[in-house]
Amino acid sequence: MRFTLCLLFAPLTVIAAERKPNVLFIVGDDMGYADVGAHGCKDIPTPNLDALAKAGTRCTNGYVTGPYCSPTRAGLLTGRYQTRFGHEFNPGGKGPEMGLPITEVTVADRLKSAGYATGLVGKWHLGEGKLHPQKRGFDDFFGFLGGAHPYIVGKGAPIFRGTAVVDEKEYLTDAFGREAVSFIDKHKEKPFFLYLAFNAVHTPMQATDARLKKFESIKDNTRRTYAAMMSAMDDAIGKVIDKLRSEKLEENTLICFISDNGGPTMQGVTINGSINTPLRGSKRTTLEGGVRVPYFVVWKNKFPAGKTYDKPLIQLDLTATALSAAGIDVKPEWKLDGVDLGPFLTGESSRSQPHDALYWRFGNQMAIRLGDWKLVKYDPVADGGKGQPSDAKLYNLADDIGEKTDLAAKNPEKVKELKAAWDKWNKDNVPPLWGGGKKN
Ligand code: CA
Repeated sequence: MRFTLCLLFAPLTVIAAERKPNVLFIVGDDMGYADVGAHGCKDIPTPNLDALAKAGTRCTNGYVTGPYCSPTRAGLLTGRYQTRFGHEFNPGGKGPEMGLPITEVTVADRLKSAGYATGLVGKWHLGEGKLHPQKRGFDDFFGFLGGAHPYIVGKGAPIFRGTAVVDEKEYLTDAFGREAVSFIDKHKEKPFFLYLAFNAVHTPMQATDARLKKFESIKDNTRRTYAAMMSAMDDAIGKVIDKLRSEKLEENTLICFISDNGGPTMQGVTINGSINTPLRGSKRTTLEGGVRVPYFVVWKNKFPAGKTYDKPLIQLDLTATALSAAGIDVKPEWKLDGVDLGPFLTGESSRSQPHDALYWRFGNQMAIRLGDWKLVKYDPVADGGKGQPSDAKLYNLADDIGEKTDLAAKNPEKVKELKAAWDKWNKDNVPPLWGGGKKN
Protein backbone atom coordinates (compact mmCIF):
# COMPACT_ATOMS: atom_id res chain seq x y z
CA MET A 1 0.00 0.00 0.00
CA ARG A 2 2.79 2.30 0.96
CA PHE A 3 4.51 1.61 -2.35
CA THR A 4 1.34 2.40 -4.27
CA LEU A 5 0.95 5.71 -2.45
CA CYS A 6 4.47 6.69 -3.37
CA LEU A 7 3.73 5.96 -6.98
CA LEU A 8 0.59 8.03 -6.79
CA PHE A 9 2.10 11.04 -5.11
CA ALA A 10 5.53 11.20 -6.67
CA PRO A 11 4.34 12.37 -10.11
CA LEU A 12 2.17 15.07 -8.52
CA THR A 13 5.17 16.43 -6.65
CA VAL A 14 7.18 16.48 -9.84
CA ILE A 15 4.44 18.32 -11.73
CA ALA A 16 4.11 20.95 -8.98
CA ALA A 17 7.85 21.57 -8.96
CA GLU A 18 8.05 21.81 -12.70
CA ARG A 19 5.69 24.63 -13.50
CA LYS A 20 7.49 26.39 -16.27
CA PRO A 21 8.87 29.79 -15.32
CA ASN A 22 7.24 32.96 -16.54
CA VAL A 23 9.30 35.17 -18.80
CA LEU A 24 9.22 38.95 -18.57
CA PHE A 25 11.17 41.05 -21.07
CA ILE A 26 11.26 44.74 -20.18
CA VAL A 27 12.67 47.10 -22.78
CA GLY A 28 13.41 50.80 -22.36
CA ASP A 29 13.77 53.07 -25.38
CA ASP A 30 16.71 55.36 -26.13
CA MET A 31 18.00 55.33 -22.54
CA GLY A 32 21.38 56.84 -21.84
CA TYR A 33 23.94 54.36 -20.55
CA ALA A 34 24.63 56.61 -17.57
CA ASP A 35 21.00 57.25 -16.68
CA VAL A 36 20.25 54.52 -14.20
CA GLY A 37 21.27 54.47 -10.53
CA ALA A 38 22.97 51.10 -10.95
CA HIS A 39 25.31 52.79 -13.43
CA GLY A 40 26.02 55.69 -11.11
CA CYS A 41 23.31 58.18 -12.15
CA LYS A 42 22.90 60.87 -9.48
CA ASP A 43 20.20 63.24 -10.70
CA ILE A 44 17.49 60.72 -11.60
CA PRO A 45 16.56 58.19 -8.90
CA THR A 46 15.63 54.80 -10.43
CA PRO A 47 14.97 52.73 -7.28
CA ASN A 48 13.00 50.00 -9.01
CA LEU A 49 15.50 49.48 -11.81
CA ASP A 50 18.29 49.49 -9.23
CA ALA A 51 16.45 46.89 -7.15
CA LEU A 52 16.04 44.78 -10.27
CA ALA A 53 19.76 45.02 -11.04
CA LYS A 54 20.49 44.02 -7.45
CA ALA A 55 18.07 41.11 -7.50
CA GLY A 56 19.97 39.59 -10.39
CA THR A 57 23.08 39.95 -12.48
CA ARG A 58 24.03 43.26 -14.04
CA CYS A 59 25.83 42.62 -17.30
CA THR A 60 28.39 45.37 -17.71
CA ASN A 61 29.25 44.43 -21.29
CA GLY A 62 25.69 43.95 -22.48
CA TYR A 63 24.97 44.98 -26.05
CA VAL A 64 22.17 45.21 -28.55
CA THR A 65 22.60 44.29 -32.21
CA GLY A 66 22.06 47.76 -33.61
CA PRO A 67 21.79 51.45 -32.78
CA TYR A 68 18.10 51.81 -33.70
CA CYS A 69 14.75 50.77 -32.24
CA SER A 70 13.15 48.42 -34.73
CA PRO A 71 16.23 46.38 -35.74
CA THR A 72 17.18 45.57 -32.15
CA ARG A 73 13.59 44.65 -31.27
CA ALA A 74 13.57 42.34 -34.33
CA GLY A 75 16.79 40.77 -33.01
CA LEU A 76 15.38 40.36 -29.52
CA LEU A 77 12.17 38.70 -30.67
CA THR A 78 13.88 36.28 -33.05
CA GLY A 79 17.17 35.63 -31.27
CA ARG A 80 18.90 36.23 -34.60
CA TYR A 81 21.06 39.03 -35.93
CA GLN A 82 18.46 41.07 -37.80
CA THR A 83 20.90 41.48 -40.72
CA ARG A 84 20.38 37.74 -41.35
CA PHE A 85 16.90 38.57 -42.62
CA GLY A 86 17.18 42.10 -43.97
CA HIS A 87 15.79 44.01 -40.97
CA GLU A 88 18.80 46.28 -40.88
CA PHE A 89 16.98 49.59 -40.55
CA ASN A 90 13.77 50.99 -39.14
CA PRO A 91 10.81 50.25 -41.41
CA GLY A 92 10.48 53.50 -43.31
CA GLY A 93 6.86 53.67 -44.34
CA LYS A 94 3.36 52.48 -43.84
CA GLY A 95 3.52 49.54 -46.25
CA PRO A 96 1.98 46.45 -44.68
CA GLU A 97 4.89 44.32 -45.89
CA MET A 98 7.44 46.45 -44.09
CA GLY A 99 8.39 44.98 -40.76
CA LEU A 100 9.59 41.75 -39.21
CA PRO A 101 9.62 39.32 -42.17
CA ILE A 102 6.95 36.68 -41.94
CA THR A 103 9.64 34.04 -42.50
CA GLU A 104 10.91 34.70 -38.98
CA VAL A 105 9.56 32.91 -35.93
CA THR A 106 9.32 34.98 -32.77
CA VAL A 107 10.05 33.97 -29.20
CA ALA A 108 6.33 34.59 -28.59
CA ASP A 109 5.47 32.02 -31.29
CA ARG A 110 7.77 29.50 -29.67
CA LEU A 111 6.59 30.10 -26.10
CA LYS A 112 2.95 30.06 -27.19
CA SER A 113 3.53 26.65 -28.81
CA ALA A 114 4.99 25.51 -25.49
CA GLY A 115 1.74 26.43 -23.69
CA TYR A 116 2.52 29.96 -22.58
CA ALA A 117 0.06 32.83 -22.45
CA THR A 118 1.76 35.60 -24.42
CA GLY A 119 1.31 39.35 -24.35
CA LEU A 120 2.84 42.55 -25.64
CA VAL A 121 2.28 45.76 -23.77
CA GLY A 122 3.81 48.83 -25.39
CA LYS A 123 5.64 49.63 -28.59
CA TRP A 124 5.70 47.16 -31.47
CA HIS A 125 7.53 48.86 -34.37
CA LEU A 126 7.72 45.61 -36.34
CA GLY A 127 4.96 46.10 -38.89
CA GLU A 128 1.21 46.18 -39.32
CA GLY A 129 -1.51 44.14 -41.02
CA LYS A 130 -0.25 40.59 -41.37
CA LEU A 131 2.73 41.59 -39.23
CA HIS A 132 0.50 42.71 -36.33
CA PRO A 133 1.70 41.38 -32.94
CA GLN A 134 -1.30 39.07 -32.63
CA LYS A 135 -0.15 37.40 -35.85
CA ARG A 136 3.39 37.03 -34.50
CA GLY A 137 2.74 34.92 -31.45
CA PHE A 138 1.12 37.35 -29.03
CA ASP A 139 -2.31 36.43 -27.66
CA ASP A 140 -2.81 39.87 -26.14
CA PHE A 141 -1.69 43.27 -27.34
CA PHE A 142 -2.07 46.68 -25.76
CA GLY A 143 -0.07 49.54 -27.20
CA PHE A 144 0.85 51.08 -30.52
CA LEU A 145 2.31 49.77 -33.75
CA GLY A 146 4.78 52.49 -34.80
CA GLY A 147 8.13 53.69 -33.52
CA ALA A 148 7.09 56.63 -31.35
CA HIS A 149 3.95 57.87 -29.67
CA PRO A 150 2.74 60.87 -27.66
CA TYR A 151 2.48 60.15 -23.94
CA ILE A 152 -0.60 62.27 -23.58
CA VAL A 153 -2.88 60.25 -25.82
CA GLY A 154 -5.05 62.21 -28.20
CA LYS A 155 -6.67 61.95 -31.59
CA GLY A 156 -4.59 60.84 -34.56
CA ALA A 157 -2.30 58.63 -32.53
CA PRO A 158 -4.30 55.58 -31.56
CA ILE A 159 -3.64 53.15 -28.78
CA PHE A 160 -4.92 49.65 -29.46
CA ARG A 161 -6.20 46.75 -27.43
CA GLY A 162 -5.87 43.99 -29.97
CA THR A 163 -7.07 45.68 -33.13
CA ALA A 164 -9.58 48.00 -31.43
CA VAL A 165 -8.76 51.62 -30.69
CA VAL A 166 -9.12 52.44 -27.00
CA ASP A 167 -9.84 55.78 -25.39
CA GLU A 168 -6.80 55.98 -23.13
CA LYS A 169 -6.89 58.64 -20.43
CA GLU A 170 -3.72 57.93 -18.50
CA TYR A 171 -0.19 59.08 -19.22
CA LEU A 172 1.04 56.38 -21.58
CA THR A 173 3.86 54.95 -19.46
CA ASP A 174 1.47 54.69 -16.49
CA ALA A 175 -1.05 52.97 -18.77
CA PHE A 176 1.58 50.43 -19.84
CA GLY A 177 2.40 49.70 -16.19
CA ARG A 178 -1.31 49.22 -15.43
CA GLU A 179 -1.83 46.92 -18.42
CA ALA A 180 1.26 44.84 -17.59
CA VAL A 181 -0.08 44.29 -14.05
CA SER A 182 -3.45 43.39 -15.48
CA PHE A 183 -1.88 40.88 -17.91
CA ILE A 184 -0.09 39.17 -15.01
CA ASP A 185 -3.32 39.07 -13.03
CA LYS A 186 -5.21 37.56 -15.94
CA HIS A 187 -2.63 34.85 -16.65
CA LYS A 188 -1.16 34.14 -13.22
CA GLU A 189 -2.46 30.56 -13.14
CA LYS A 190 -0.33 29.41 -16.05
CA PRO A 191 3.11 30.23 -17.42
CA PHE A 192 3.16 33.52 -19.27
CA PHE A 193 5.48 35.53 -21.48
CA LEU A 194 5.07 39.28 -21.16
CA TYR A 195 6.98 41.61 -23.45
CA LEU A 196 6.75 45.01 -21.79
CA ALA A 197 8.19 47.31 -24.43
CA PHE A 198 8.19 50.90 -23.26
CA ASN A 199 8.60 53.83 -25.60
CA ALA A 200 9.97 55.78 -22.63
CA VAL A 201 12.30 57.64 -22.80
CA HIS A 202 12.01 58.20 -26.55
CA THR A 203 10.75 61.53 -27.88
CA PRO A 204 8.31 63.32 -27.79
CA MET A 205 9.41 64.79 -24.50
CA GLN A 206 6.22 64.80 -22.43
CA ALA A 207 5.82 64.22 -18.73
CA THR A 208 3.17 64.71 -16.07
CA ASP A 209 3.20 67.91 -14.00
CA ALA A 210 3.53 65.93 -10.77
CA ARG A 211 6.71 64.21 -11.94
CA LEU A 212 8.14 67.38 -13.47
CA LYS A 213 7.70 69.00 -10.07
CA LYS A 214 9.80 66.24 -8.49
CA PHE A 215 12.71 67.29 -10.71
CA GLU A 216 12.55 71.06 -10.28
CA SER A 217 16.19 71.05 -9.23
CA ILE A 218 17.24 70.04 -12.76
CA LYS A 219 17.53 73.34 -14.58
CA ASP A 220 17.85 72.03 -18.14
CA ASN A 221 14.33 71.70 -19.44
CA THR A 222 14.96 68.66 -21.66
CA ARG A 223 16.90 66.82 -18.97
CA ARG A 224 14.16 67.60 -16.44
CA THR A 225 11.48 66.18 -18.73
CA TYR A 226 13.67 63.16 -19.45
CA ALA A 227 14.09 62.60 -15.70
CA ALA A 228 10.33 62.74 -15.20
CA MET A 229 9.80 60.27 -18.06
CA MET A 230 12.46 57.91 -16.69
CA SER A 231 10.86 58.16 -13.28
CA ALA A 232 7.50 57.15 -14.81
CA MET A 233 9.07 54.07 -16.37
CA ASP A 234 10.74 53.21 -13.09
CA ASP A 235 7.40 53.56 -11.27
CA ALA A 236 5.71 51.29 -13.83
CA ILE A 237 8.43 48.64 -13.45
CA GLY A 238 8.01 48.86 -9.66
CA LYS A 239 4.30 48.13 -9.98
CA VAL A 240 4.96 45.11 -12.17
CA ILE A 241 7.55 43.66 -9.79
CA ASP A 242 5.22 44.31 -6.82
CA LYS A 243 2.50 42.40 -8.62
CA LEU A 244 4.80 39.43 -9.24
CA ARG A 245 5.79 39.51 -5.58
CA SER A 246 2.24 39.73 -4.26
CA GLU A 247 1.22 36.78 -6.45
CA LYS A 248 4.30 34.85 -5.24
CA LEU A 249 5.52 34.58 -8.81
CA GLU A 250 8.79 36.42 -8.37
CA GLU A 251 10.87 33.28 -7.85
CA ASN A 252 9.42 31.58 -10.88
CA THR A 253 9.91 34.44 -13.31
CA LEU A 254 12.89 35.14 -15.53
CA ILE A 255 13.11 38.93 -15.84
CA CYS A 256 15.32 40.64 -18.40
CA PHE A 257 15.82 44.36 -18.79
CA ILE A 258 17.59 46.23 -21.60
CA SER A 259 17.39 49.50 -23.45
CA ASP A 260 16.78 48.98 -27.18
CA ASN A 261 19.74 51.21 -28.10
CA GLY A 262 21.90 53.91 -26.60
CA GLY A 263 20.90 57.49 -25.84
CA PRO A 264 20.57 59.91 -28.77
CA THR A 265 23.27 62.28 -27.63
CA MET A 266 24.41 63.35 -31.10
CA GLN A 267 26.83 66.25 -31.02
CA GLY A 268 24.97 69.51 -30.94
CA VAL A 269 21.54 67.85 -30.91
CA THR A 270 20.62 66.36 -27.57
CA ILE A 271 17.33 64.86 -28.55
CA ASN A 272 16.03 63.57 -25.22
CA GLY A 273 18.54 64.79 -22.65
CA SER A 274 20.16 61.38 -22.15
CA ILE A 275 23.79 60.84 -21.16
CA ASN A 276 25.95 57.91 -22.33
CA THR A 277 29.14 58.57 -20.38
CA PRO A 278 31.68 57.06 -20.13
CA LEU A 279 30.79 55.74 -23.56
CA ARG A 280 31.39 57.68 -26.76
CA GLY A 281 28.86 58.03 -29.54
CA SER A 282 25.11 57.96 -29.65
CA LYS A 283 22.09 56.17 -30.97
CA ARG A 284 22.57 55.79 -34.75
CA THR A 285 26.25 54.81 -34.41
CA THR A 286 28.12 51.56 -33.88
CA LEU A 287 30.30 53.24 -31.28
CA GLU A 288 29.74 51.97 -27.74
CA GLY A 289 27.26 54.76 -26.98
CA GLY A 290 24.94 53.41 -29.66
CA VAL A 291 24.97 49.74 -28.81
CA ARG A 292 26.10 49.09 -25.23
CA VAL A 293 23.11 49.32 -22.90
CA PRO A 294 21.87 48.74 -19.35
CA TYR A 295 21.37 44.96 -19.27
CA PHE A 296 20.03 43.07 -16.22
CA VAL A 297 19.08 39.39 -15.94
CA VAL A 298 17.09 38.27 -12.92
CA TRP A 299 15.86 34.84 -11.91
CA LYS A 300 15.55 34.55 -8.18
CA ASN A 301 17.35 31.56 -6.66
CA LYS A 302 18.49 30.42 -10.11
CA PHE A 303 20.82 33.16 -11.30
CA PRO A 304 23.27 35.02 -9.04
CA ALA A 305 21.90 38.09 -7.26
CA GLY A 306 23.80 41.29 -6.61
CA LYS A 307 26.55 40.34 -9.03
CA THR A 308 28.02 41.76 -12.18
CA TYR A 309 29.01 39.74 -15.23
CA ASP A 310 31.67 41.30 -17.42
CA LYS A 311 32.00 39.13 -20.52
CA PRO A 312 30.49 40.55 -23.72
CA LEU A 313 26.98 39.42 -24.48
CA ILE A 314 24.07 40.62 -26.57
CA GLN A 315 20.28 40.91 -26.43
CA LEU A 316 19.91 37.84 -28.67
CA ASP A 317 21.05 35.85 -25.65
CA LEU A 318 17.94 36.82 -23.72
CA THR A 319 15.84 35.01 -26.30
CA ALA A 320 17.93 31.85 -26.03
CA THR A 321 17.87 32.11 -22.23
CA ALA A 322 14.08 32.41 -22.23
CA LEU A 323 13.66 29.39 -24.51
CA SER A 324 15.96 27.36 -22.31
CA ALA A 325 14.12 28.44 -19.15
CA ALA A 326 10.89 27.26 -20.78
CA GLY A 327 12.46 23.87 -21.48
CA ILE A 328 12.31 24.37 -25.23
CA ASP A 329 14.85 22.38 -27.16
CA VAL A 330 16.50 24.79 -29.58
CA LYS A 331 16.96 23.26 -33.04
CA PRO A 332 20.05 24.01 -35.15
CA GLU A 333 17.83 24.82 -38.14
CA TRP A 334 16.36 27.76 -36.21
CA LYS A 335 19.77 29.36 -36.69
CA LEU A 336 19.67 31.30 -33.45
CA ASP A 337 22.65 33.53 -32.82
CA GLY A 338 21.99 33.93 -29.10
CA VAL A 339 23.33 31.77 -26.31
CA ASP A 340 21.62 30.56 -23.13
CA LEU A 341 23.20 32.76 -20.47
CA GLY A 342 22.21 30.54 -17.55
CA PRO A 343 25.34 28.37 -17.40
CA PHE A 344 27.58 31.43 -17.81
CA LEU A 345 25.90 33.49 -15.10
CA THR A 346 25.96 30.58 -12.67
CA GLY A 347 29.51 29.59 -13.59
CA GLU A 348 28.45 26.08 -14.61
CA SER A 349 29.59 26.39 -18.21
CA SER A 350 32.93 24.90 -19.14
CA ARG A 351 33.34 27.66 -21.70
CA SER A 352 34.95 30.90 -20.60
CA GLN A 353 32.42 33.19 -22.29
CA PRO A 354 29.19 33.03 -24.30
CA HIS A 355 30.60 34.46 -27.55
CA ASP A 356 33.95 34.43 -29.30
CA ALA A 357 32.92 37.68 -30.96
CA LEU A 358 29.99 40.06 -31.35
CA TYR A 359 29.16 41.78 -34.64
CA TRP A 360 27.31 44.79 -35.99
CA ARG A 361 26.32 45.95 -39.46
CA PHE A 362 24.31 49.11 -39.93
CA GLY A 363 24.50 50.49 -43.46
CA ASN A 364 27.97 51.89 -43.99
CA GLN A 365 28.84 51.37 -40.33
CA MET A 366 30.21 48.17 -38.86
CA ALA A 367 31.80 46.87 -35.70
CA ILE A 368 33.17 43.69 -34.24
CA ARG A 369 34.16 43.02 -30.65
CA LEU A 370 36.63 40.22 -30.07
CA GLY A 371 37.80 39.97 -26.46
CA ASP A 372 38.69 43.51 -25.42
CA TRP A 373 39.40 44.56 -29.01
CA LYS A 374 36.86 46.46 -31.04
CA LEU A 375 37.14 47.32 -34.70
CA VAL A 376 34.60 49.95 -35.68
CA LYS A 377 33.71 51.96 -38.74
CA TYR A 378 31.26 54.69 -37.80
CA ASP A 379 29.57 57.55 -39.56
CA PRO A 380 30.35 60.96 -38.04
CA VAL A 381 27.17 62.39 -39.57
CA ALA A 382 25.11 59.81 -37.68
CA ASP A 383 26.83 61.08 -34.54
CA GLY A 384 25.71 64.61 -35.28
CA GLY A 385 29.03 65.70 -36.80
CA LYS A 386 30.43 66.17 -40.29
CA GLY A 387 32.64 64.16 -42.62
CA GLN A 388 32.77 60.80 -44.27
CA PRO A 389 32.36 57.40 -42.62
CA SER A 390 35.61 56.63 -40.92
CA ASP A 391 38.17 54.01 -41.83
CA ALA A 392 38.08 51.16 -39.40
CA LYS A 393 39.41 52.23 -36.00
CA LEU A 394 40.79 49.81 -33.49
CA TYR A 395 40.18 50.30 -29.78
CA ASN A 396 41.04 48.25 -26.73
CA LEU A 397 38.03 48.58 -24.46
CA ALA A 398 39.84 47.17 -21.41
CA ASP A 399 41.51 50.51 -20.82
CA ASP A 400 39.69 52.68 -23.34
CA ILE A 401 35.95 52.24 -22.86
CA GLY A 402 35.46 55.72 -24.37
CA GLU A 403 37.04 54.67 -27.71
CA LYS A 404 39.50 57.55 -27.70
CA THR A 405 42.80 56.05 -28.86
CA ASP A 406 42.87 54.43 -32.29
CA LEU A 407 45.40 51.61 -32.21
CA ALA A 408 44.91 50.48 -35.83
CA ALA A 409 48.22 51.78 -37.15
CA LYS A 410 50.13 50.08 -34.33
CA ASN A 411 48.32 46.76 -34.68
CA PRO A 412 47.79 46.00 -38.38
CA GLU A 413 47.64 42.23 -37.73
CA LYS A 414 44.88 42.67 -35.17
CA VAL A 415 42.95 44.85 -37.62
CA LYS A 416 43.31 42.14 -40.26
CA GLU A 417 42.17 39.43 -37.87
CA LEU A 418 39.05 41.33 -36.79
CA LYS A 419 38.21 42.36 -40.34
CA ALA A 420 38.48 38.74 -41.52
CA ALA A 421 36.22 37.55 -38.68
CA TRP A 422 33.66 40.23 -39.51
CA ASP A 423 33.76 39.36 -43.24
CA LYS A 424 33.16 35.71 -42.40
CA TRP A 425 30.14 36.63 -40.25
CA ASN A 426 28.84 39.03 -42.89
CA LYS A 427 28.69 36.26 -45.51
CA ASP A 428 25.55 34.95 -43.81
CA ASN A 429 23.82 38.34 -43.87
CA VAL A 430 21.46 39.47 -46.62
CA PRO A 431 20.96 42.91 -48.18
CA PRO A 432 18.58 45.19 -46.28
CA LEU A 433 14.92 44.73 -47.24
CA TRP A 434 14.37 48.49 -47.11
CA GLY A 435 16.56 51.57 -46.87
CA GLY A 436 17.71 53.48 -43.83
CA GLY A 437 17.20 57.11 -43.11
CA LYS A 438 13.83 56.98 -41.36
CA LYS A 439 13.97 58.51 -37.90
CA ASN A 440 13.04 56.82 -34.62
CA1 CA B 1 15.18 53.18 -29.40
